[in-house]
Amino acid sequence: MASVIDGKVVAADVVAKVKAEADKLIAETGVVPGIAVVIVGHDPASQVYVASKGKKAKECGFNSIEHALPAETSEEELVAVVEKLNADPAIHGILVQLPLPGHIDSGRIIQTIAPEKDVDGFHFINVGKLGTGELDTAFVPCTPAGSMLLIERALGRDLSGLSAVVVGRSNIVGKPMANLLLNANATVTIAHSRTKDLPGLCRSADILVAAVGRPEMIKGDWVKPGATVIDVGINRLPADANGKARLVGDVAYDEAATNAGSITPVPGGVGPMTIALLMANTVISASRAAGRALSL
Ligand code: NDP
Repeated sequence: MASVIDGKVVAADVVAKVKAEADKLIAETGVVPGIAVVIVGHDPASQVYVASKGKKAKECGFNSIEHALPAETSEEELVAVVEKLNADPAIHGILVQLPLPGHIDSGRIIQTIAPEKDVDGFHFINVGKLGTGELDTAFVPCTPAGSMLLIERALGRDLSGLSAVVVGRSNIVGKPMANLLLNANATVTIAHSRTKDLPGLCRSADILVAAVGRPEMIKGDWVKPGATVIDVGINRLPADANGKARLVGDVAYDEAATNAGSITPVPGGVGPMTIALLMANTVISASRAAGRALSL
């Protein structure tokens, strides 16, 4: 049976380090890490995410502000809010909660965020830095960065020579994940909806990352014996006979766990890492603003 990679434990370690670094920064320079979360409209899932980011930021000792804007906010008004935050020296991380209402061009808003405050890592400058291996000054998107930490913890060794398959090629998970694995010297293949013989390809992977958004698509016999399996997927299944909704990943967990060497559960695997890495990116940004290099 696979060992379970407990994302809650690793995320708590990251948050403890972030808090310690924030305390040190405040004591030694007077700079208090500041994060601004901007939300437009009333999407209930987004409101839950924003509230938990604000709570975690406070737990880390940050100054956390929230801009909750009405759904009818225009694109120009939102650009103006972001530009004001760009110019505010007390703010080191700016996060615009996605999705935005349909009348706003999300791409334009993301590219308006100053790259040095883009703690989500979606700005072209940060994407380019990750793609060219400039990791010391990049902000890496939080979900793949968190997944990478889980892989390193699970394997406890250099990834050189290992084969990695990332299923999914989105800009926020699949592509940055593949770049991180490549940077760590794994041999990386990215699979997507047009890939042929996906089961066979997955079976070749020492490290298998699933970021698809299809419940339990990756079956147990797609997993190479002993592989490290990272399940990024979060899929909400309709309520069962007892009226209970269930969250599942992209991997058929019970089957896969009989083959894998280690595996992340859903929930409790990658999920808690995303917010922890957002906090890490924010304290890194604040440290840079204070003229200090920091990596966690
Ligand atoms: P996207 O929908 O943007 O991308 C999904 C990718 O999966 C696409 O590249 C798509 O291929 C590929 N795909 C779809 N169907 C298949 C198939 N049958 N076979 C092979 N590949 C397929 O999703 P995201 O990357 O944004 O998210 C992926 C999952 O991760 C979701 O469940 C999401 O909820 C979860 N997630 C979890 C986070 C966390 O904090 N844990 C954060 C972000 C996302 P193609 O490009 O060809 O269409």
